[in-house]
Amino acid sequence: MTTVSKKTGIWTNATGMAYNGKSFDKQGNQTGAGMYLNRTVLKKYKYNKAQRINVAIHELGHGMGLGHNTAKSVSVMGPTNRKYTIRNCDVRGVKKAYSTPAKTRATLASSAKPELEVDHIKDYSNGITGIQNIKRTASVIVEGEIIKSVSHHKAPKNYYTTQTMRIDHHFKGKTGKTVTFTQGGTKNMAVAESEILPKNEEIVVMLAKNVNGNYYVINDGQGMFVDTHKNNGHELFEHVSDHNIYTEDMLH
Ligand SMILES: [Zn+2]
Repeated sequence: MTTVSKKTGIWTNATGMAYNGKSFDKQGNQTGAGMYLNRTVLKKYKYNKAQRINVAIHELGHGMGLGHNTAKSVSVMGPTNRKYTIRNCDVRGVKKAYSTPAKTRATLASSAKPELEVDHIKDYSNGITGIQNIKRTASVIVEGEIIKSVSHHKAPKNYYTTQTMRIDHHFKGKTGKTVTFTQGGTKNMAVAESEILPKNEEIVVMLAKNVNGNYYVINDGQGMFVDTHKNNGHELFEHVSDHNIYTEDMLH
């Protein structure tokens, strides 16, 4: 378990993350996991000591192989939990996981799969308030067409997607006629399953630049909107994270 202090890219609103499957032995048994807490975000959102410990326990849970419980569950493994410590259902979950007979060594070796889990503060993907904040934070907002989409879904270092788009409209800021950006993180730290967009997909994207001068989709990929269909002459865009639908003017 390591604490870090970061406030850009994938870390923008990440309270913590766990990399489950950092190392494996020859038989495919997991021998290591990495857990990280983000001091900057925990401080910004005023997590007290008990709540920070709850986040730490939550990340350890991921390290042990637990996934998220549902949002409303009374569990340290709730997706945005800060108030609960270990509860009965968590104990049951761990017992169940570790009392299930191990698979054969050969199966384990081939099924051992590292997983990266990024946890966020509650509330920046829920509707217009979140969008307004993303719009304000973005240095560039553009609309255009995807001309190339490359996945780097190889944990832990390349777990992101690089998108290149041809720009039709600048809504905020200036770039060249095309722009290349990473989505779902950066080369250094990223998130699983960032979306690979088909060629010619029309999108609106809200970008910021990292210290190396490379663009990334702000808020952990939340600044991306995919064209869905027209309604009453309006182009409608679906937010990749909360799946709400926005008209183009709402994204300027
Ligand atoms: Zn989590």
